Amino acid sequence: MKRMVSGIKPTGNLTLGNYIGAIKQFVELNKNYESFIFVADLHAITLPQEPKILKEKIKEIVGIYLACGLDSNDTYIFIQSENIYHTLVSWILECNSYMGEMSRMTQYKDLASKEKNITTGIFTYPILMASDILIYDADVVPTGIDQKQHIELTRNIAIRFNNRYGDTFKVPDEVIPEFGSKIMNLQNPLDKMGKSDDNPKGNIYLLDDLKQVRKKIMSAVTDSDNTIKYDLDKKPGISNLITIYSSLTNKSIKKIEDEFKNSNYGDFKSKVADEVIKLLEDIQSKYNNIINSNIIDETLDKGLIKSEKIAKEKAYQLLNKLGLGRY
Ligand code: AMP
Repeated sequence: MKRMVSGIKPTGNLTLGNYIGAIKQFVELNKNYESFIFVADLHAITLPQEPKILKEKIKEIVGIYLACGLDSNDTYIFIQSENIYHTLVSWILECNSYMGEMSRMTQYKDLASKEKNITTGIFTYPILMASDILIYDADVVPTGIDQKQHIELTRNIAIRFNNRYGDTFKVPDEVIPEFGSKIMNLQNPLDKMGKSDDNPKGNIYLLDDLKQVRKKIMSAVTDSDNTIKYDLDKKPGISNLITIYSSLTNKSIKKIEDEFKNSNYGDFKSKVADEVIKLLEDIQSKYNNIINSNIIDETLDKGLIKSEKIAKEKAYQLLNKLGLGRY
């Protein structure tokens, strides 16, 4: 069976963007792939984290994965830092990647242009990400558009390594949704909806109070034209709401434009709010049953055993190829 690998950082609060861009894909692909979905806690510490909160957030993400429909019977869910082979392989890959290519990563460049004191981890984390993926010989990596460049780097590292040391890694493909790969902030539709944003009014969090969710959607920034038409350049606000509605109802953009051609923005926003609230109500009721149960630990134990077995085999194969240790 082909394999899928992906993960989410346990920082901030998971958003509707994380759901539409990533988790929804995990659940759909899960039917046809052997799935490894992890909590990317090592990626979280590229920025300072409060240890107590980080621990809570790790558990929260596992609860959300399960509440969104991932099932420990057919998905291996684990915490990245518990599987030590990710970092071992990451070091080997660091020694097979170049400063030049790392310096071209736009997320690093953006942060470096804004902040003076960034960690070395911010510079090298795309290599850890390559390790997270290559160590499982993943066929596909479902993700939002912001990770596209990092998946391309992963592919380049895999191809280079295979050329140098013989066939070692599968070269993975990204799976980026056609619509919904970048859900935007409702208050500023030119900015991505992010989980650690300063502008919570523009972000829908998966565990948000449902009344607040309706309020946030009803006060989403749009234009003054009042026609429900998808046009990313001229109408980014309403296009974002159309994308959200399309992702949650599986209706095409064209069908939505036809359906709402006689409606105003208020009517449409109210329908979008109904769909989002229906989704979040379901996620939250499942989450509340799961979060304090044994299911979390049982899921993580099972996920760790399987992921560690595969990762260890790949790590030892690399040690052997590179002449390291006694392997
Ligand atoms: P992160 O929140 O950076 O850990 O990202 C976890 C996953 O969610 C990645 O696959 C991202 O591409 C995806 N993602 C994050 N924010 C959004 C968004 N606003 N729209 C679509 N996908 C997103």
